[in-house]
Amino acid sequence: MAKVATKSARVATKTPVGATTKRARSVAETAARKAVIVTALEMSRSGLSPGRSGNVSQRFGDGMLITPSGMAYDTLKPSDIVYVEADGAVAKGARKPSSEWRFHLSAYHARPDGYAIVHTHSLHATVIACTGRPIPAFHYMVAIAGGRDIPCVPYSTFGTEELAAYVADGLTERDACLMANHGQITIASCLTGALELAHEIEVLAEQYAKLLAIMPKPPVLADDEMDDVLRRFKGYGQKAQG
Ligand code: 13P
Ligand code: ZN
Repeated sequence: MAKVATKSARVATKTPVGATTKRARSVAETAARKAVIVTALEMSRSGLSPGRSGNVSQRFGDGMLITPSGMAYDTLKPSDIVYVEADGAVAKGARKPSSEWRFHLSAYHARPDGYAIVHTHSLHATVIACTGRPIPAFHYMVAIAGGRDIPCVPYSTFGTEELAAYVADGLTERDACLMANHGQITIASCLTGALELAHEIEVLAEQYAKLLAIMPKPPVLADDEMDDVLRRFKGYGQKAQG
């Protein structure tokens, strides 16, 4: 017993606390980089984002890990994912981060409860975004984005501070919004949640686009109906086990 204690004490002196923490962070960082790649691949394979469009990030440390700009997702290695600090700084030698790193950072700033972001040019969400109008409460599932509609933020050139400010506004009261003449963006507590929400938004946008084709002014649910749905959504699904 005493021997074991001596041995572990020796190991402890050989491995300073700082080094252990550093190693743990590097293991966690590699896992987080892989998770970003898995999400980007899934986004692309499921047809949600054509070509090299779209980008994915998740918070890490005080900053975030984000897909590199303009790289095909099926070529990505963990080292291609870029760590961007809270002030936008990137380490020398790292890949160039997504051109949209500003709106990912501004969205995290606006939403301290958000841990992952998916941005896509999914077909129908982009079609509706090109009208410059929100998706109204034509179906109760619109509440999935956290409110009575899915807003559409104004157009601004990709990668700009102005677009970052619009996106931060759009995501302050919602978990998803459209971006005029561009696409959609979602925020969630994890990568799977952000991707799942992007799928939901795409389905709603497809339904709405088809509805507009047969009925230019479809009826929308009243505010009190949507508020009821929003209340019910809070208790929807299974309670956490244990
Ligand atoms: P990035 O390849 O730079 O992430 O750009 C894709 C995109 O969708 C820009 O809005
Ligand atoms: Zn885009």
